[in-house]
Amino acid sequence: MKRNTETNAIILKSSKFGEINKLLTLFSPNLGIIQCSAYGALKLKSRFAGKLEQYTVVRVKLYQNKNSDFYTLKEVDVLSFFECVRGNLDAIFVVSFWAELLLKLGTGGEDKKIFSLFYNSLLVLDDKKEYEKSFVIFLYRYLYYVGIFIYTDCCSECGKTILDNEQSFVSYEDYHPLCKSCINYESFVVTPSIKEFIKNLMRNKISISINYSVSKAELLLIKKFLLNFIKFTTGLNFKSISY
Ligand SMILES: [Zn+2]
Repeated sequence: MKRNTETNAIILKSSKFGEINKLLTLFSPNLGIIQCSAYGALKLKSRFAGKLEQYTVVRVKLYQNKNSDFYTLKEVDVLSFFECVRGNLDAIFVVSFWAELLLKLGTGGEDKKIFSLFYNSLLVLDDKKEYEKSFVIFLYRYLYYVGIFIYTDCCSECGKTILDNEQSFVSYEDYHPLCKSCINYESFVVTPSIKEFIKNLMRNKISISINYSVSKAELLLIKKFLLNFIKFTTGLNFKSISY
């Protein structure tokens, strides 16, 4: 069994363990979400000093402890530090939510896709500072990748296909799509421009869809809808966010 391994990773959590060590939760495209100890990381002259901040993207050499999923950090290089998550509360709020989502709902076996989604979302957030839009783009794609949310344009009552230029509705009761003839209770209104934004964000790279113009009100509606949907489907509450 190969016990030494090298991989890229995002540091999802970094906490003190013992007097001079750190305990890390890493997300790697090859290993998924793992725990790893960094011995002596808090010593003044540690070779890890300053390299193990939360949400940093790193290249690590790891040693897998015998008969366990626990790793020991051997070497680390910082690939991206992300200045925006060091003190900017809007950015910290967004990334904390992404991390919490991942820690609570996992990756659905799509480690590589979700790693690249997370890494690219951090790059775009740092570059563009479009907090609400980055939040929504990440969330929508994440739910799609893990198979929790799949938008259909077919009415769940009458079976009619709802055209792109028509408004459609999603019931807040059971989250099924409805056409305008079948709507009968409180619904999320999917306007043609919301549909266009969603199509765009699924079709393009994040660095392109971040430039797509969508109103602040519509972004907030999509966000509210997706958050309610997660609560409805998973029953989970998120510490990093208030509904
Ligand atoms: Zn219908």
